[in-house]
Amino acid sequence: MTDSRIHDEARQGEAFAPLILPGNGYKKHFYIESYGCAMNFADSEVVASILQNNGYGATKNCEEADLILVNTCSIREKAEATVRKRLTEFRKLKKANPGILVGVLGCMAERLKEKFLQEEKLVDLVVGPDAYRSLPGLIEEAETGQKAVNVLLSREETYADIAPVRLNSNGVNAFVSIMRGCNNMCSFCVVPFTRGRERSRDAVSIVGECRQLFENGFREVTLLGQNVDSYNWMPSASPEIGGVDKQAVDFAGLLEMVALISPLLRVRFSTSHPKDITDDVLFTIAKYYNICNYIHLPVQSGSSRVLQLMNRTYSREWYIAKVNRIREIIPDCGLSTDMITGFCTETEEDHAQSLSLMEYCRYDLAYMYFYSERPGTLAARRFKDDIPETVKKRRLQEMVDLHRIHSLQSMQRDIGKTCKVLVEGFSKKTEDDLHGRNDQNKVVVFPRGNYKKGDYVTVKIESCTAGTLIGKPVDGPAHDNGK
Ligand code: SAM
Ligand code: SF4
Repeated sequence: MTDSRIHDEARQGEAFAPLILPGNGYKKHFYIESYGCAMNFADSEVVASILQNNGYGATKNCEEADLILVNTCSIREKAEATVRKRLTEFRKLKKANPGILVGVLGCMAERLKEKFLQEEKLVDLVVGPDAYRSLPGLIEEAETGQKAVNVLLSREETYADIAPVRLNSNGVNAFVSIMRGCNNMCSFCVVPFTRGRERSRDAVSIVGECRQLFENGFREVTLLGQNVDSYNWMPSASPEIGGVDKQAVDFAGLLEMVALISPLLRVRFSTSHPKDITDDVLFTIAKYYNICNYIHLPVQSGSSRVLQLMNRTYSREWYIAKVNRIREIIPDCGLSTDMITGFCTETEEDHAQSLSLMEYCRYDLAYMYFYSERPGTLAARRFKDDIPETVKKRRLQEMVDLHRIHSLQSMQRDIGKTCKVLVEGFSKKTEDDLHGRNDQNKVVVFPRGNYKKGDYVTVKIESCTAGTLIGKPVDGPAHDNGK
């Protein structure tokens, strides 16, 4: 199932491939497994496109693959450990069939570079996130028995002209990458080192990809970037771009261009940075019926002192003012966050401030982590990782417990309301029910009736669990939030 959550635990290690039909013309097959954030899953679709154009068909079965690829994540130590463990499992396959090539892609490849080849002997290819175009050449090199590495980062690469091959798609929602890299230097974060400088993708190609998706039956796109609010694309020539000719396109402009493709195409985006999200963006969300009322606005900590050490460039007060502004301009806006516990020097008082900020914001969804020092980051160089793991984990548990209360309350508040649901497929439990998401990204389950995937259905919510709203279809518009 394609999911619009940005870091989805359920999708970690997902092998994605369309069904291989017998005699589909490919002599060789690749198998790709992806870890980490949605950006990595979107990158795997670019890789699939490059490989398919070079004679490799995708397979979901690693045992029939000639090429095994693992698209990796470095964000926390645990993410890297998961990949290392998985590689040991591929060792058996390679022993049985030494002709198989094993490649490591993505952030871990970028972070470890050639070192990867020394540390993991079975790896034949190491390819960083900006070097996927060179994959066919690298594969050829590896086929001759040499190890092949390309971890060059680029200031320009956006893969704008590559039409991603939608793998494991439900045919309803798709991720569309709008920019790459990150220029923020949050002190805990490895992304600026593994994904390079920020660059925005050509707006014309983004709109083209979204339009194509819509014409192919997709009904929701999620625009992806590490910091979408700093999207800024300057046309070099003078292409016609949806009425915005020859001017730089900022994120509000891009949102509008995508929203105008069709009122039946829902638009989501992630991730927003509190320092960069503008009133313009908020007014654009409020203006368009099909831009979802949902913002993922990671705060990381509720303590201004810790935020400063994290180099987030905003304070607790600034963040609260942003949340107030969001609620003023978009009443009913769904709000989610990322939180880190146990960052360097974090005191019990700092932690209490994180909890009180969560009390204030009452997030619908929160991704919570304990701090994991990453080699080479500003924090690793400047500060001591001085909070014992037991303390980090205890604080994390307190945070998770608090958030559980907030998310349940958020679900309960929707009982009695009606909402518009975009159907994504059958519910997990029974084909008698369908599941989809409402505007605020909450999962809604309701009796199937004559509805099908891709339909918009107005549903009246009657009950809920911690993660699901349960309701019945009703006639008429979903008027609780005007969308
Ligand atoms: N660009 C996004 C932003 O600025 O919020 C998110 C980037 S990161 C892929 C996703 C989340 O992982 C971060 O928001 C942060 O909460 C978490 N994260 C990043 N580095 C981490 C670290 N060293 N230890 C624990 N969590 C970390
Ligand atoms: Fe990492 Fe900060 Fe960039 Fe997000 S904004 S990717 S947390 S450096």
